[in-house]
Amino acid sequence: MNRTQSEKLFAEALKYIPGGVNSPVRAFRAVGGNPFFVNRASGSKVWDVDGNELIDYVCTWGPAILGHAHPKIISAIKTAAEFGTSFGIPNPLEVTMAKLICELVPSVKKIRMTSSGTEACMSAIRLARGFTRRDKIIKFDGCYHGHVDSLLVRAGSGALTFGHPDSAGIPAAFTSHTIVAPYNDVEAVKAIFAANKNEIAGIIVEPVPGNAGLYLPKPGYLEFLREITAANGALLIFDEVMTGFRLAKGGAQERFGITPDLSTFGKVIGGGLPVGAFGGRAEIMDYLAPLGPVYQAGTLSGNPIAMAAGLANLEELDRCGAYDRLEKIGEQLEAGMMDAAKSANIPVRLNRCGSMFCGYFTSEPVHNVADAMHSDRERFKKFFHGMLDAGVYFAPSQFEAGFISTAHTAADIEKTVQAAAKVLRNL
Ligand SMILES: *Cc1c(COP(=O)(O)O)cnc(C)c1O
Repeated sequence: MNRTQSEKLFAEALKYIPGGVNSPVRAFRAVGGNPFFVNRASGSKVWDVDGNELIDYVCTWGPAILGHAHPKIISAIKTAAEFGTSFGIPNPLEVTMAKLICELVPSVKKIRMTSSGTEACMSAIRLARGFTRRDKIIKFDGCYHGHVDSLLVRAGSGALTFGHPDSAGIPAAFTSHTIVAPYNDVEAVKAIFAANKNEIAGIIVEPVPGNAGLYLPKPGYLEFLREITAANGALLIFDEVMTGFRLAKGGAQERFGITPDLSTFGKVIGGGLPVGAFGGRAEIMDYLAPLGPVYQAGTLSGNPIAMAAGLANLEELDRCGAYDRLEKIGEQLEAGMMDAAKSANIPVRLNRCGSMFCGYFTSEPVHNVADAMHSDRERFKKFFHGMLDAGVYFAPSQFEAGFISTAHTAADIEKTVQAAAKVLRNL
């Protein structure tokens, strides 16, 4: 595959951008080689600057659930842009968006928009601490909640890929109120509550963790988190930045039938523009300024173009029966990939939840990040490059989830599975 233009651009990028990328997960550090540059995307495909066509399972890390450049989203953005790019004054689309989210996600009675998932998570834990007047937060090993100082502890993909779980530049004091537990482990959480009576403000959790690959909650685990937080006066915060409006209309909380106190959103909610949000019980949300004592703000929060794009995405998802289709395509991909692995005699565990998936090169089940670490990463590197050369783009790290969009066709999946069969046979 010719990548001359991409190589040129990357050499230039390295001079002016640290590592040549504006987010470290885009670099190919975990798989070797250099990232390619894309200047066009449509439906299930992206085209690099050398004109190579790729079937895309990154889907801009989740937002492109209707595929790239969906006509309804593009048209909504154009229309909104004609009226002005930002007002810094309330605009009607903010109300439409807030009302729609409250309808789609019943646990959310009030919502506030931000410009990223990171901001949403940062604000949600500040609010949980302000509301409960407690400092300690429980998070899970391998869960990522954005690059928030106090949450960047054992935080999944980026950190795992680069082998230093904690970032430099974060004073130990900033994370001293963050307690980390292994996911899917009931006893560990019980022990933390027992050792920190009346001190835990809340638990923040990705209900289906997708930042160390992908693994699912064991039956009863999310119910357990709901019960133990309620019994201890702590809040349950679902980080649905990845799962929201993806695993179901109402996110993972609808799929698993759990009612969290607070939820955070991002990715799909912005239709490809920079958007995040956090919301939940009204009496908690009313703790926010200007009504309450917890300060939170944003110059571009509720931006009219971003709201228009996000609304178009959510409305179209609701209208087009997306979730049934995503489930079907997901099943087809899972079955095909498992067949390919079996016939190549390569041990693979494929975890999938609707349109999110991750294949690990291990024969053991993967229920948390410790299990994920058993995957054969050398094998993943070869698999990744083999698939890329065959025109299929998976995320450039073992510890990322893959995403399917409604634009992925049965033919895309068939092509992917055939390429995988060939690549796996040669591993
Ligand atoms: C992507 C992600 C975030 C951070 O969102 P950004 O928009 O990248 O700041 C937070 N939580 C989860 C679960 C995510 O997947």
